[in-house]
Amino acid sequence: MNLLIMGPPGAGKGTQAEVLVKELDITHISTGDMFRNAIKEGTEMGRKAKEYMDKGELVPDEVVIGMVKDRLSQPDCKKGFLLDGFPRTVEQAGALDKTLGDLGIKLDGVVNIVVPLDKLMARLTGRRVCKGCGASYHVLFNPPENEGRCNACGGELYQRSDDNEESVGTRLRAYEEKTQPLIDYYKDKGILLNINGDQEIKKVLEDILKALRK
Ligand code: ADP
Ligand code: AMP
Repeated sequence: MNLLIMGPPGAGKGTQAEVLVKELDITHISTGDMFRNAIKEGTEMGRKAKEYMDKGELVPDEVVIGMVKDRLSQPDCKKGFLLDGFPRTVEQAGALDKTLGDLGIKLDGVVNIVVPLDKLMARLTGRRVCKGCGASYHVLFNPPENEGRCNACGGELYQRSDDNEESVGTRLRAYEEKTQPLIDYYKDKGILLNINGDQEIKKVLEDILKALRK
């Protein structure tokens, strides 16, 4: 199954993706995680991306599109994939269609997690992420069993440098201006699955699986 997971920053894409890819035995491709890894490794692309990410701005299309194209041609995507955080612009969506066409594959569904925008600031400023495996927690809404430690791998939890009020404000505006129009793009293709993300994490997962089975 080849899927996209969409929604504003903080909607719960990463949280749901972590479980979904195990349930469906598909490959998780998060462009945000790819950039954070590039920054950790100190690559030229990481250095370039960091300038935009710290401010909450989108990394330029030409950088992201090339990276995703390469990633989708890797053998582990043959069993199916879940793209998380891409596409974020109309240009990226067009490039994705072209890449998938060239590879002879199609999208089976677009999971769109819907959460009222006024709930997202608290979700993002309270988010804590595992340094080891990237799992997402929240100080209030989804705390780890042991403070500061990941339930899954015991890794140390940290706060992303872009999860501050100023960057979050910019990211939410970028979402509204550049990414939200893609909802209609996928609705018109008849593959959009709207999911209520303003409910318990487990219930959101149940609703996604139910929608995918239909
Ligand atoms: P995204 O990948 O869409 O940016 P995350 O999955 O990292 O979002 O979730 C953002 C924050 O919100 C995290 O701290 C996460 O623990 C929390 N969160 C995720 N889903 C829910 C939910 N259904 N209810 C409350 N908090 C949630
Ligand atoms: P995320 O982990 O999805 O919240 O992404 C973190 C940051 O990485 C974003 O605020 C952007 O700066 C950058 N980024 C991730 N994916 C994309 C994308 N598809 N297009 C442009 N920038 C992106």
